[in-house]
Amino acid sequence: MLNRLKTLYQLQFIDDQLDVLEELRGDLPNTVKDLESKITEMKEDIQSKEKQQKESVEKKESNEKEMERLLENQKRFKAQLYQVRNNKEYDALTKEIDHTEEQITKMEAENDDLVNLNKSLSQQIEESLPALDELQKGLKEKEADLKEIIKANEREELKLQAERKKIEGQVKKADVSVYMRIRKAKKGKAVVTIKRSACSGCHNIVPSQRQLEIRRNNKLFFCEYCGRILVSQEIADSQE
Ligand SMILES: [Zn+2]
Repeated sequence: MLNRLKTLYQLQFIDDQLDVLEELRGDLPNTVKDLESKITEMKEDIQSKEKQQKESVEKKESNEKEMERLLENQKRFKAQLYQVRNNKEYDALTKEIDHTEEQITKMEAENDDLVNLNKSLSQQIEESLPALDELQKGLKEKEADLKEIIKANEREELKLQAERKKIEGQVKKADVSVYMRIRKAKKGKAVVTIKRSACSGCHNIVPSQRQLEIRRNNKLFFCEYCGRILVSQEIADSQE
């Protein structure tokens, strides 16, 4: 049991040091992530606008082809006007001519809109490029800063991680999962000692009877206020 408590405390001891290294990075990892997602979002937006542009060009081209065909028809209808034999044929032809005219006018208007859309999209893309450039520059800087910090402590971190692995292997699996759960909930400290009769995690007084029990080092005790694992000073001293 003593060993079980000792290894748990050791695990915390190493994690404390890893946490210090992590803190040195400050907000940098989050900043880098934020910048990356903003850049991705912006690039996707530009891509979608470029796709719209491509589609508008294709639509305009197909309209132009269709208009050519309609104009040919128009010519033919107009020529036929000279050969009509009665009013009925004349009416039918003028109706065709009017209808074709309408379609051509509609397509011309649509093509004008497509040209405008294309221009506006180009402008929007162009306007977003400096901001994208700025974000990419910012990302590069932050990445370099982060890399430098990580590199400065790389050796220490690797050593601690190796040690951590070794000790984690010595801790009971169930204890590791309890430890990790508390550590996550309490953002760091899962194993604490009693200082001046209080839990050093939450500073609530630990009843003296409980303090006595904890000093026996033969059972896992949890602080009844914060839920952290409480160990005796003896355990802590054996680590130092
Ligand atoms: Zn507590």
